[in-house]
Amino acid sequence: MMNAAEKLETRCVIVGGGPAGMMAGYLLARAGIEVVVLEKHADFNRDFRGDTIHPSTLELIYDLGLLDEFLKQPHQEARELRAVVNGQAVPVADFTKLPTHCKFIAFMPQWDFLNFLASHAKRFPTFQLHMETEVVDLLMDGSRVTGVRAKTPTGELDVRADLVIGADGRHSIVNNRAGFERREFGVPIDVLWMRISKKSDDPEQSLGFFQHGKLLVLLDRDDYWQAGFVIPKGQFDEIQERGLTQFQNEIVSFAGFLRDRVAELDDWSKIKLLTVQVNRLREWCCQGLLCIGDSAHAMSPAGGVGINLAIQDAVATANLLAEKLLRGPVHVDDLREVQARREWPTRLIQGMQILIHRRVVTGRSSDEKEASLPFVFRLLKWFPILRQIPARFIGLGPRPEHIHSPIAVR
Ligand SMILES: Cc1cc2nc3c(=O)[nH]c(=O)nc-3n(C[C@H](O)[C@H](O)[C@H](O)COP(=O)(O)OP(=O)(O)OC[C@H]3O[C@@H](n4cnc5c(N)ncnc54)[C@H](O)[C@@H]3O)c2cc1C
Repeated sequence: MMNAAEKLETRCVIVGGGPAGMMAGYLLARAGIEVVVLEKHADFNRDFRGDTIHPSTLELIYDLGLLDEFLKQPHQEARELRAVVNGQAVPVADFTKLPTHCKFIAFMPQWDFLNFLASHAKRFPTFQLHMETEVVDLLMDGSRVTGVRAKTPTGELDVRADLVIGADGRHSIVNNRAGFERREFGVPIDVLWMRISKKSDDPEQSLGFFQHGKLLVLLDRDDYWQAGFVIPKGQFDEIQERGLTQFQNEIVSFAGFLRDRVAELDDWSKIKLLTVQVNRLREWCCQGLLCIGDSAHAMSPAGGVGINLAIQDAVATANLLAEKLLRGPVHVDDLREVQARREWPTRLIQGMQILIHRRVVTGRSSDEKEASLPFVFRLLKWFPILRQIPARFIGLGPRPEHIHSPIAVR
């Protein structure tokens, strides 16, 4: 006999405990709103995540009064980002002039960031986080979304709420079940994701190693490098057919210091294929439901800005909806205000990402001369002041948000 689903009622249920979901959950609970975050994994320890905490996110953490504690967590600080382009080191972004308390990007494994947010959110009496709880469907009353159905290790759970927030990332079940129309922007690349051990005399973390349309990114995770290697979309099979030795040699041609360790990649199971998408929903909401972060607009890794954008969406959501949610259910017009506020920054950033994929990181070898520097990198090398433009774009993003949502509990 099937057990009946367990039932829970709350003001707001958030699907997904990534950067968007955890920040929205934190801010709504801080405002005194009953909020339940559902995360399908048992922990935040998954390595296919970016590690960047941007100056604008650090500013939000400062606004929350948590910065000193946050910066005690192990992290690296990059005040300037350099790239190695066709063998030449080029300074790309200078964060030291940004109008923020932290004039650097903090590189911190994302699970540390999410654990930090979760541990602070749990201090609010109205906050609940359910791990290993995978949302499988929406609950509907006519055309209004009234909650979600989830699978847990012990059975089914129905959570009814005045508002469902879909923050379940780029393979969102929430936007899929809601039938939202999605616009796909073709991206010509995928990413191979793997670990390579790190040595104390390795060079510092950079923006990446660019070579004639190709790119190797190395994220410093203390005792190992998390490597992301850009390939043309759909070509993983061909790369595998050419063999591991050729692949290892290709990695070494980007970062020669890995020569003595690249043999660690001795089995294709150590190399994961991450498919890259850029897309955007036409409507981010309907009665009872709002999508934010990658669920509303999947971002490519280009520029490392997707986490920041997801967090900015969460802040805008709390700013625009918290007061109203404290009083009761919100109308779809209130939800549309969130889309109206966040859509143009999203369009602008996605436009830049698409341009980068067409012009700079295509995954295919271009026919440039061996050591030539693309024009944009030459400009950045010649005119230091220009490095403040990528710094603003990457570090703050267009329309950085500030926290205005109410505080019920400190
Ligand atoms: C290869 C790659 C590298 C990247 N590197 C960077 C980088 O360095 N810096 C950067 O800023 N951006 C990077 N990005 C983009 C960035 O990962 C996303 O833009 C960002 O993670 C979006 O945050 P989010 O909270 O919206 O979604 P996510 O981070 O995807 O979080 C969604 C959460 O929802 C959970 N979930 C999913 N489905 C369900 C369900 N049905 N029920 C319950 N929970 C569910 C997931 O487990 C996850 O925890 C990268 C992207 C890719 C593809």
